[in-house]
Amino acid sequence: MRKPLMAGNWKMNKTVAEAVSIVKALKSSIADVKDVDVLICPTFMALYAVNSEVKGSNINIGAQNLFWESKGAFTGEISPAMVKDAGCSYVLIGHSERRQYFGETNETVNKKIKAALAAELIPVVCVGETLKEREDNVTFKVIEKQINEGLVGLRAEQAGIVVIAYEPVWAIGTGKTATPDQAQEVHAFARKAYGKMYGDASQKVRILYGGSVNPANVSELMKQSDIDGGLVGGASLDAESFTKLVKYSK
Ligand code: PEP
Repeated sequence: MRKPLMAGNWKMNKTVAEAVSIVKALKSSIADVKDVDVLICPTFMALYAVNSEVKGSNINIGAQNLFWESKGAFTGEISPAMVKDAGCSYVLIGHSERRQYFGETNETVNKKIKAALAAELIPVVCVGETLKEREDNVTFKVIEKQINEGLVGLRAEQAGIVVIAYEPVWAIGTGKTATPDQAQEVHAFARKAYGKMYGDASQKVRILYGGSVNPANVSELMKQSDIDGGLVGGASLDAESFTKLVKYSK
């Protein structure tokens, strides 16, 4: 049985004070939740303060990125050990916005995944097709390539630890959600592709859906057998709506 994971990606939003105030509210509103893992990914700037606030609670924190080198002359970058030191247990890797605006490739994604795992961070690896790719009927090909190249070379014990997030680019921040059937179809395909690389680990790996998840559509998505949680942008920025997502009706 895979434990669901509900993850909030705050992107470049919220000051430190705003971030702390939301997690304060969340801490009490979801204190009773035991059957869903909860993850918040604030900006690097807010990690330290948010970590102090969530200590001892059921809220995990994660970074939105890291660099694969451990230290040195890499101005503006953050190492895996620094992410860990700030209290993170997870890190997002290869979000489509990073691929689109910051030149990330399957190769750099792979280096980051390995560096994250070496620092005992759980990578949440994002994959997904653009609208053009969906319309051109190459969705499966794109997902398979992102998985094959991005997740290559993991050790057996690492393969079951990673989290994959399927996020169709056309559904991110657009209010357009993949239908539960569309999402399930790709999730099942992604699990199979991962299974070809790592066998049974594919049954352990959680595959999250991301793309305009909100309190109104979360339950139908979560009913799908290969959807193990959500990676949520907009609807995670407000304590009340994120609480509804964490407490989706089963
Ligand atoms: C995301 O940031 O990964 C995302 C899916 O955003 P949204 O929920 O706003 O579409």
